[in-house]
Order: sequence, then structure tokens, then C-alpha cells
Amino acid sequence: MALNSNSLQMFQSIKRDTRDFINIDPLQTAGLLTDAAKEALIEWGDGYSVCDYCSGALDLVKKPPIQEFVHKALPEFLGTDEARVMNGARESKFAVMHSLASDAAADAAAAAGGKNNYVIMDAWAHYSSKVAAERAGLDVVLTQKPEREIMPEDFLEAIENGIEQYGKKPLLTLLTYPDGSYGNLADVKKIAAISHEFEIPVLLNGAYAVGRMPINAKEFGVDYIVGSGHKSMSACGPVGVLGVVGEERAEQLFRKSVHNKVKEVELLGCTSRGAPIMTLMASFPDVVERTQPENWAKEVETARHFIQRLEETGKFKLFGQNPHNHDLMFFEAPGFFNISERAKRGRYFLYDELKDKKIHGIKPGLTKNFKMSTYGLGRDKVDFIADSFIDILKKYDEI
Ligand SMILES: *Cc1c(COP(=O)(O)O)cnc(C)c1O
Repeated sequence: MALNSNSLQMFQSIKRDTRDFINIDPLQTAGLLTDAAKEALIEWGDGYSVCDYCSGALDLVKKPPIQEFVHKALPEFLGTDEARVMNGARESKFAVMHSLASDAAADAAAAAGGKNNYVIMDAWAHYSSKVAAERAGLDVVLTQKPEREIMPEDFLEAIENGIEQYGKKPLLTLLTYPDGSYGNLADVKKIAAISHEFEIPVLLNGAYAVGRMPINAKEFGVDYIVGSGHKSMSACGPVGVLGVVGEERAEQLFRKSVHNKVKEVELLGCTSRGAPIMTLMASFPDVVERTQPENWAKEVETARHFIQRLEETGKFKLFGQNPHNHDLMFFEAPGFFNISERAKRGRYFLYDELKDKKIHGIKPGLTKNFKMSTYGLGRDKVDFIADSFIDILKKYDEI
């Protein structure tokens, strides 16, 4: 295209038509900015503006108070000894895997065994966990596909299979908590304990947990924890958090460059250096509040109430743990599917109907199975959504 002001106008003043909708997209419900974060976004939007008073290490910047956040507030929140702000959950996972993979001892073991190093993951692991392993040069061994939920025994079996297949133990086990499809919370403590029996460190992928619900790496018994700022911590992103338990592990993970004594290699020197980290910090007081056990209990109660309202119709079936323990939920909806077979717009009818009701977040084209989230909506809005679903079924004579 010709780069003149006429043709380039399309990139300016772009509006988002779903901005004032009720959002039920699991990716987005806990990523909505707080008012404080919106202010921070404007205040710190200019490139590198957080670096005014930096003396070489982002995490040690005192003004704005990044040091206080990264070295005091964040580790306390995560229940870890050390923490860093990263560019996302995936970058955090990659940093951990890469640091383990480049460990000299692991390399020597690989040379002796002739087989690659590997990571064990739950069968529902997110693609970004697998890609992180791939980029770090590691194979992936998954637990067997469960019928309903991932059990600790699945990890035991996967570890034993891995050791048999590779002739050595994995560098890491990774648990997705909750998984991103069904919102199931596996027994993290047991899984961590099983892993530790084999002296394998454990990484908890808390992309849907950190910032939504109470978590504590030490209480869970995991060695690493990662979270996603733009998914679950009301930050604009891309931004994520990484916590590590144990000073030795922290030292290995955050080792300094031979070329520059203050720069951490796995962080490529500096990570989130702009508005994303400032929105993460600005939302943090609210995030701390909303993850208090009593507030999370209300979220779960709202989610269960919504599930019950849908199940009462006989037209929706929840997959995974039931009673459910998370705001992320996955439904089978035969009623919606039936409609899609005869509606004029086919399987896009549901998207259209919900758009009319200003509800956003079920992927266009999905009817038979879909996932959604009730996070932060409260009773009135989830009742409105349930009523809307029922209205749509009635409109097309499904109930
Ligand atoms: C969204 C998601 C991620 C990716 O988070 P980023 O911060 O965007 O890298 C990783 N794992 C799970 C389970 C997710 O749902």
C-alpha cells in the first residue's frame, strides 16, 4: 500500500465495538482495567517513561516504586522467595525451562543418555507451555487424557513412563491450574508432592489463577509459579509474573550476564518496561482485595448459581468438576446446536443474538460447546446472561 496520509488513516482512531458490552470471554473478564490502571496507562504510555530513574536494572527502579513491587509485594502475593515481572505467562515459562535446559548438569546428562531432555505436562496444557518447551529445546510428555479431571496418579504414571522412555527424569513437571478449557482445579499439593518424590521441580501455570483466586506457591508446594497480567490481573499487557521458591533456584533462574553485570540473562536484561507494568501495579491493590478467600468464595458462588440456572433448563450440561470451583466454565448446549441447524445465519446465530443483548465473549460460530466466564460480573449480570440464554432458546422454540 502507498504510505500516504489517506491510506494510513485506517490505523488511526480505531474503535472497539464491544467495549461497553457485558464481557464473558474467559480471556478478558479478569483483564479489565481498574480506574487506577486506566490512569496509569495514559500517565506512563510514553515509551520508556518508567526508565527515567533506572540505573540498569528494571526491577530495582525506586521511582516509580517497581523495586518495592517486585521485591516485596509480588513475592509476598505469590508466596515465593523471589519474583519478577515478565512480558507474559509464556515468557515466564520459557525463562524457567530455558534456564533448566541450559543448566550444565542437564546438558551432560543429555549427552550421556543420548536422548533429549523433557518436561511433563498435564494433558490439558496450554499451547504456550508446549511452545515454550519447544523453544527451550525440550520434549514434552503429557499425562494421559482424562475423562473428567487430571488426577495425581496421572502425573505419577507420566513420570514413570517418561523415565522409562528417556532413561532419565524430566527437568520439570508443569500443572495448568486451572486448565484453560474446563476450569478444573487439580490437586496441586499432591501433584507437587509426587513430583518432589522424584526430585523434579514443579511449575504451576496460574494464568487463570494468579489475580483471580487465592494462591500461594509455598503452601501449594510448587517451585515456580507464573501468572498473566493481561488475563487475570487487570493489566493492559502484555505482562506476566514469575515467582520462584528457594534461593538456589532463584539464582539459577535470574543469573546475570557475563557481558553486563546487572542484566539478567533469562529476562534479556529488562522485561516489561512501560505502561503494562504500571497498569499491573496500579491494579494490584484491587487484585489483592479480590483474591481474598471470602471474595473468591463469592465468585465461585456466583459461578455455581449461574451453572445451576442453566442446568435447570435441561438444555445445558457443564463439563468438568461439578460442583464447580472456578469462574471459567465449559458447557455443552444441545439446544443452541439444534437452532444452529435451522437458523438463517447458521451457527453464527448465537453470536448475533448475544450481540443484540450486548453480551460479548462466546466465540463466533460456536453453539454446541463453548466456554465462558462469570468473573467479576455479580448476581444481576449473570442472571441477565442466564435470562438471555433462556430467551434465545424460547425465541426459537427450544423450550
Ligand atoms: C492465556 C493462557 C496462557 C498465556 O498467557 P500469556 O500471559 O498471554 O502468555 C498460558 N496458559 C494458559 C492456561 C492460558 O490460559
